[in-house]
Amino acid sequence: MNKLKSLFEHKCPKCGGTLTASYDSISSSKSCPACSYKEEIHAALGVRIIHDPAK
Ligand SMILES: [Zn+2]
Repeated sequence: MNKLKSLFEHKCPKCGGTLTASYDSISSSKSCPACSYKEEIHAALGVRIIHDPAK
């Protein structure tokens, strides 16, 4: 479980808030309800997409 925990750190890098994680068969995503930061991870493609509205 420790490995999983470090792989999916549920803390927003922008504001330090708790991220909400969701998973489906092709991807996983984490989003921050406080600042709209969002990460999408497509493990099969080796792609990580970061949505950062502040940039
Ligand atoms: Zn945030």
